[in-house]
Amino acid sequence: MKTVLSIAGSDSSAGAGIQADLKTCSAIGVYCITVITAITAQNPAGLKLVEYVGKSMLEAQLDSIFESINPDAVKIGMLPNSDAVEIVARYLKKNKSKKIVIDPVLSATSGGSLTGGSKTERRQTIEKMILELFPLAELITPNLKEYKILSDSFNTLQLKEDNIAPNDNLSDLRSEYIEDIYDKLNVPILIKGGHSLDSPATDILYKPGQKPYSFTGNWIESRHTHGTGCTLSSAIASYLAKDYDLNESIKMAKQFVEKSISKGLNSNLYNDNGPLIQF
Ligand code: PLP
Repeated sequence: MKTVLSIAGSDSSAGAGIQADLKTCSAIGVYCITVITAITAQNPAGLKLVEYVGKSMLEAQLDSIFESINPDAVKIGMLPNSDAVEIVARYLKKNKSKKIVIDPVLSATSGGSLTGGSKTERRQTIEKMILELFPLAELITPNLKEYKILSDSFNTLQLKEDNIAPNDNLSDLRSEYIEDIYDKLNVPILIKGGHSLDSPATDILYKPGQKPYSFTGNWIESRHTHGTGCTLSSAIASYLAKDYDLNESIKMAKQFVEKSISKGLNSNLYNDNGPLIQF
């Protein structure tokens, strides 16, 4: 059986994070092993508390996994601080891990920051992510807002998050935003249009040296989209683990997300901000 290693945070509402990854991989028929980086206490109303898993526990989880299994693909979600980024990068390099999909989760859809504490700490975490982790990736999957934060950090090493509107047009992405990271780092980036005003069902794949490639799905209007990013990235990792190529994996993962949003419409779990249903 193929395996995906999910390195991510725990979500008590089970809509996102490690719980979304477990459900996604299982539904696709891939065995998911996990490294938990943080524990979040949250429900659709908001994020109550976050505790980061300490360095030795992170290392012990990674040791336990790599001593027994070499995963076919890796999905990386919430990395709460620069220590976590450094440790994860070190283990992935040492074990020559391949097919690494990074979802740079910077804030919870239910509100609240998932990365770092102070602004300086957040900046350090993001810088380390860009310099140490991104070069190892087969794909990075930021949404529009995350991409701009990453791009600004990459360009100026300053976090200008406060200046960024949460909803922008995907077509407004200026070339400076696009060219910087992916050409210099030589890593494919899938920019998700879900938070854009103009093309919410379109994601654009930027591959170094190639023309951008659009994946357009059907937009399903739903209030229950908690866990969409986690589901997409772990679905891509699952299809990569099953040896589909990158474009096929993205296409199939998008279809999987669409189906999961449709099922979430009638789940009746919460009035608002409920989860996708992957099974
Ligand atoms: N990871 C964790 C632990 C979370 O709690 C969240 C959101 O609450 C996310 C990732 C990102 O969730 P989404 O897939 O909705 O962007």
